[in-house]
Amino acid sequence: MRHRFTSLGVVFAVALASLCLAGPRLSAQQLSVDESNQPFKPFRIIADIYYVGTNDVACYIIKTRAGLILLDTGFEEAAPIVRANIAALGFKLNDIKIILSGHAHFDHVGGHADMKQATGAQVYASAGDAVVLESGGTRSFHPLKPFKAVKVDHVVTDGAAVRLGDLTMIAHLTPGHTEGNTTWTTVVAENGKQYNVVFVGSMSINPGVHLVDFAPWPEIAEVYARSFQLLKGLPCDVFLGPHASFFGLQDKVQKMNGNAKSNPFVDPEGLHDYIARFEKLYRDQLQQERQRKSSSAHPFRKQEPVNSILE
Ligand SMILES: [Zn+2]
Repeated sequence: MRHRFTSLGVVFAVALASLCLAGPRLSAQQLSVDESNQPFKPFRIIADIYYVGTNDVACYIIKTRAGLILLDTGFEEAAPIVRANIAALGFKLNDIKIILSGHAHFDHVGGHADMKQATGAQVYASAGDAVVLESGGTRSFHPLKPFKAVKVDHVVTDGAAVRLGDLTMIAHLTPGHTEGNTTWTTVVAENGKQYNVVFVGSMSINPGVHLVDFAPWPEIAEVYARSFQLLKGLPCDVFLGPHASFFGLQDKVQKMNGNAKSNPFVDPEGLHDYIARFEKLYRDQLQQERQRKSSSAHPFRKQEPVNSILE
């Protein structure tokens, strides 16, 4: 199994590196699948929210009085890391009652099927991503590496509340990166203070996807625009995301371990910057595609003035 994955890995390492990490890593290092699948020490982020993902692919445990919610399961191959992290924090797999996802790509939901089988947890997803999850990634406007298909038990709509015990997760549909890309929010309390937590969805544009005249999803440009608008309206204190690089995991953990006076994950500006960075990439691509389209519609316009007066 391992060598089969590795041969595929060459192709998908490129896909992964440029795809989910496209924005922040455009000119920085790009991670292969193996490089994204390294162990990372699990820890409590704030209140009852814990990080249990790999060095790059984020997975979160949210503890409630009625059990655990797991947001994202990572690559199928990340399961040993994620399970060890959950155990290291003293949690039991059997206490996972709900499995959520940010978006249905193999590096975030590849472990869903096995985790569901191991825990009996209920899987919640948006309608758009439910189709992708139940087809193992094959029924998508832009299929990537397939993963183990998983049955979705509950479909969530925009604004839907998923409740477990004393905790509520709200689904905000931010499609574009996938059909049902979802930003999750919740409110937690620590030391008598309340915090709005945003688990932002991925806002990058997959390589090979066009925003103008894109047959697989003709309205994709408007869809992205609406998603950016939605994100700008979310109250945020704690900023988290699907990849470590999106929200500066490594730096923030270092600050935390260095006895920072305040929790470094309280970072509303981080979300602000994230939205601005990806919206700029979106606008630049849209502008380039529109220019290309208009110049190809008038191929001789630019050359006209040169000799025309000499006629
Ligand atoms: Zn992705």
